[in-house]
Amino acid sequence: MNYERLTDKFTVIGGPCSAESKAQVLRVAEGVKQSGGDVFRSGVWKPRTSADSWQGAGKEALPWLKEAKRRFGIALAIEVMSSQQLESALEYGIDLVWVGARSGTHTPLLDVVGQLTQNGQTIVMLKRGMGAKLRDWVGAVSYIHKYHSRIVLCERGITGPGTETRNVLDLQTAWLAKQETKLPVIIDPSHAAGRRDLILPMSRAIKAAGFDGLLIEVHPNPDRALTDAKQQLTLKQFGFLTENLKAIPSSNESFGNEIK
Ligand code: PEP
Ligand code: MN
Repeated sequence: MNYERLTDKFTVIGGPCSAESKAQVLRVAEGVKQSGGDVFRSGVWKPRTSADSWQGAGKEALPWLKEAKRRFGIALAIEVMSSQQLESALEYGIDLVWVGARSGTHTPLLDVVGQLTQNGQTIVMLKRGMGAKLRDWVGAVSYIHKYHSRIVLCERGITGPGTETRNVLDLQTAWLAKQETKLPVIIDPSHAAGRRDLILPMSRAIKAAGFDGLLIEVHPNPDRALTDAKQQLTLKQFGFLTENLKAIPSSNESFGNEIK
């Protein structure tokens, strides 16, 4: 996948929180592609709070993803948390690797991600940590930037006071990150909201504001999902969302702070 394509148009990344089976991966990848999605995302190794929880399908899922790419011609995105995981991802032709909200302060990982993706076309996406300030997020960029600049940022919500939503979607800081770094900024309302009913209205706002794309979790049967069941859309809802967004123009205007 070409990095320039990410900056040229409003990019939609869709897919399940976790790859659960080959059938599930193929079904969602086909649906995401048919609905006009640009990239298929999927968790392979999952960052879980407890070691007793399911940790994801792991390396076994990589051939499922590769087959989805071959069959449907869709680019692939996964999270990596270690250099071994990254090496496997590169071996299987993953187009975009992301560093998740829990790993962005681990600078040796950032360094190795930059180093191992230096040659080739692989894109690196840096998700903002749930408590990361703008300078923390921009600081993480500098570790990759030492090696190359195929970098995308992703805002996924920060910890807030409420219990109704999982996190608070912070579009203000996301816009400042876009201004400061001049990098594309993709917004993930799925992990920000943690609930399905907020995904469509937030997505409409995100596109209208002028961000560079969306990351949306999609599952064939969300209520039975092994991770993040409450926030994943059905394939039908994802199709409705991409169709609905077509009518929203993507702006990119903003005032500076100085009055000229
Ligand atoms: C994910 O995208 O599946 C994920 C674990 O996200 P985050 O790192 O933003 O929590
Ligand atoms: Mn998830």
